[in-house]
Formats: sequence, C-alpha cells, structure tokens
Amino acid sequence: MSKHITHWIGGEPVATAGAAPRRGDLFDPATGQVTGQVDFAGIAEVDQAVAAAASAFADWRTASIARRTTVLFAFRELLNARRDELARIIVSEHGKVHSDALGEIARGLEVVEYACGIPQLLKGGFTEQASTGIDVYSIRQPLGPVAIISPFNFPAMVPMWFFPLAIAAGNTVVVKPSEKDPSAANFLAGLWKEAGLPDGVFNVVHGDKVAVDRLLEHPDVKSVSFVGSTPIARYVYETGTRYGKRVQALGGAKNHMLVLPDADLDLAADAAVNAGFGAAGERCMAVSVLVAVDPVGDELVDKIKQRMARLKVGPGCNGDSEMGPLVTGVHRDKVTSYVESGLADGAELTVDGRKHPITAEDENGAPTADGFWLGPTLFDRVQPGMSVYNDEIFGPILSVVRVSSYEEGVALINANPYGNGTAIFTNDGGAARRFQYEVEVGMVGINVPIPVPVAYYSFGGWKASLFGDTHAYGADGVQFFTRGKAVTQRWLDPSHGGINLGFPTNS
Ligand code: NAD
Repeated sequence: MSKHITHWIGGEPVATAGAAPRRGDLFDPATGQVTGQVDFAGIAEVDQAVAAAASAFADWRTASIARRTTVLFAFRELLNARRDELARIIVSEHGKVHSDALGEIARGLEVVEYACGIPQLLKGGFTEQASTGIDVYSIRQPLGPVAIISPFNFPAMVPMWFFPLAIAAGNTVVVKPSEKDPSAANFLAGLWKEAGLPDGVFNVVHGDKVAVDRLLEHPDVKSVSFVGSTPIARYVYETGTRYGKRVQALGGAKNHMLVLPDADLDLAADAAVNAGFGAAGERCMAVSVLVAVDPVGDELVDKIKQRMARLKVGPGCNGDSEMGPLVTGVHRDKVTSYVESGLADGAELTVDGRKHPITAEDENGAPTADGFWLGPTLFDRVQPGMSVYNDEIFGPILSVVRVSSYEEGVALINANPYGNGTAIFTNDGGAARRFQYEVEVGMVGINVPIPVPVAYYSFGGWKASLFGDTHAYGADGVQFFTRGKAVTQRWLDPSHGGINLGFPTNS
C-alpha cells in the first residue's frame, strides 16, 4: 500500500482533504519503486506550524525545568525502546544498511541524554559584591519558535543534533526534513506526543524551497539551524541573518585522510574502506580523499582493493549487507558521472563501481537489478583540479592523492575550501600533535577516520563547511538556543548613600 506523509502540526498529522497541491514521490532506493508521496508545504502550512509553535511557547517556557526534563527522559526511553522500528523506516527511504541506521539513532540518543542534563547546563554565574552592596548574575532564556532544516543523509540524527537542546531550553520547534526521507521526523513527532510533550512544541512541515524560504522570512521564527550542501547553507545563512535571525548553517565537505609512512597500513586500509564506503559515501564526514605519503601509496592501494573486493553490497534491509544503494536515481546518475569525468581528467580508475555485479546489465544494456546502485569505486593518482578531487561527490568514490611529504599533505588539506573533518594515520605522536595544531579543519581524527564528536563536545566544520559562529550540540548548542541576560541587583539597606548622579566607580 502506498504511504502518504503529511505535516505534523499542533500535536497531530494535518488532515488533508484530498491531495495537497504539491507533492513529492518517495522511493525505496533498493528497488527503485515509488512507495508513497509526501505533501509539500506552501506558505499557509508553514504559517500554521509557526503559529502552533508560537502559541505553545508561552506555556512551554514557563514549564519548570523539572517538568521539561521529565518529558525528555520519557522521550529517551521511548526512542530507545523503538529504535529498531525507526531504523527500518530510515532504511526504507534512505537505503543505508540497518546497522548504520541504528548507529545514527544511537548518536541522536546521545544528544537527548546530554539535553537531559539541562538543569546543570542552564546554570548561570553569580558574583556577590561586584560593587558595594551590588550582586551581578547571568541567566539564559529560550529564544521562541526555532526552525531546523535537515538533509537527506541522516533523517533522524541531524534533527536530533538540535531539537533535544532546543526543547530542553524551553523553545518550540518547527522541523523541515529532507523531502527524500521525511517519515523519520513524523515518527519522532509521535514519540514526543507519547512522552507527554505539549502539543505545538514540536512541529514538522514537509516540502522544498517554498517551505524553507517562508521559515527564513517568518517574523516569529527566532533562529534557523540548517544542515545541507554548501550553496544552500550559504543561502540560508545570508537570507536568515538578513531577516534578523540567529543562524547556524552547516554545509558540505571533502574530507582528507592523511597516511604517513609509519602508519599501521592494515588499520589505515580498514579505516579508508569503512569511512569511504559506509552509507555509500553519503556522509558529511565520509573520507573522500586518501592522501598517501611516499612510499606507502602502492601498498595502501593494494590493501584497499583487497578489502573492497570483499564488501557486501546489497539492500539495507538484508542483515549481511555492508553498503546499500544511493538515495535517488538522480543522485546515482550524478555520482556515476564522476567516474567518466575522472577518467577524462586522467585519473587512474583502479576499481570501477559501474562493473560491480549489483549494477550488471543484460544483453540489451538494461540493468538486471532495480534500484539506485553504484559499486565501490577507487581512483588512484588523483590531482587537485580534477573534478573528482574538487567536487563533493557524496557517493562511493574514493580518490587517492599521492604526496611526497607530510608538509605537502597538510598544505593540500589546508588549501581545500572545505574544512569539515580530517584524519591522520600515524604511529608518531609528535607528527599527530603537529597535525592537530596545523590543520585548518573543525574536526580532527588521530587514527580515527570519522571523528564525529560525542554529544558533550560540539559538531562543526570550518571554512565552507559552516556558516555562523556556533557549532551543533554540546556547549555551543546550549548557547545557540538561549539568550544571555545579565542582572545587576541591589537591595537597599539602611546605610544606602542617597542621590549620586555619577557613573559607578566600583569603590
Ligand atoms: P541539500 O542542500 O540539497 O538539502 C538540505 C535541505 O535544504 C533540505 O531540507 C532541502 O529540502 C533544502 N533545500 C534544497 N534546496 C534548497 C533551495 N534551493 N532553497 C532552500 N532550501 C533548499 O542537501 P542534501 O542533498 O539533502 O544533503 C547532502 C548535503 O548535506 C551534502 O552536501 C552533505 O555534505 C551535507 N551535510 C553536511 C553535514 C554537516 O554537518 N556539515 C551533515 C550532513 C550532511
């Protein structure tokens, strides 16, 4: 039966009388079949969601911290209990393998757990006797209705980078998920309701640019947290700030993994394959460029090829699949076009994913398996300037660049316009420390290929990978979703000094 996903506003799915004027198809990426449709919001639906959030804000911000954390703990328990169900929903629309979907839920749960500590996180400072008889203290207050706009590649985790802290701090939320895999957000909305969150605190609108633009300009939306590609992140940042909003916009990536000659090459090869082909390369922290310092290139490429040959590519719902399909046919075609352009630019095609058995064709050139497939692909001797190096491909294509020294490798990474994640593989602590100091990237792994920070640190890149001043979750998340106030207080005692028109001298 074909499913129909609609907006979630004021604590329930929006009843649609007949078809919404604009809708998008939903696919099962493993079969290529249309499985349903999602409604696209117009201005009226966005306004309805923001109005629900604005009206719920008055009560939610006055709810005691104890009440808010009770709801958060209940949400945590429900999500934990039903994580398998949510993982199946993610697999059916995104295509990633089930264990990977469980992984993204686990990382989202971490942020929920961090947000359960909001009583501690919201504590302000207090200075007694800042001036004679005067105390100064700071408090942090919620912003109001906040918008969260998320990408297709982590339909549960990325919204959870933001909404647990936003809600814990007393804000109300409108989420605009990716139109490619919208169902996870509605599932999470249902869990919030079950957990006892008042209606209107968590709303979901589905759709495209029309919905995003309305959220960016709506006067009642106080902040925007965006994650997606760099051109849209830049647009969201520039437009949202022009409308006077607080904006954090996380963009795309081109993550390099530097392998020094003294590294454990088996560990490095395992890491390159895991981080290059996990989730079919559709991760903003995927490794897409392997920088091999002479003379390890040949041996490393050999070890990676051996591992790639053993990878199990298949539908995400099959228990033994390690890599699934790409999210849509359009995206698969775009990613596959890079194999051609890499060859045209003179890179060495070491493993051709187009020839993987999952993409086999019959004698008429028609694919024998349906679905949006491309096998793991490896290019060697890639150079800056080639489109496989310059562009964020967001698919299972790993490029190897060979350099002659550590210095050349770091210079290459620092010259890249993106600065999301990077990793160094070495057994030399001094080299690793120097790398951590010198590299111009926001998240650094030392013998760790995907250094996504745990929930009590913050997630964010540098340069074209982030627009705005604050990273996601952790201390930055608390900062982003609250406004500071400093209060100076004085309670008169019998010895007060009477009229004094001067500025305080702190004497
Ligand atoms: P995308 O930029 O196409 O879409 C992201 C969101 O923006 C979606 O909700 C989409 O509906 C909306 N959108 C798309 N086009 C728009 C437009 N013209 N105007 C307004 N809104 C628009 O990204 P995607 O393809 O869904 O996700 C993949 C991208 O996200 C990759 O570039 C990846 O690196 C990036 N990403 C970054 C991080 C990070 O933390 N830096 C994390 C995950 C994904």
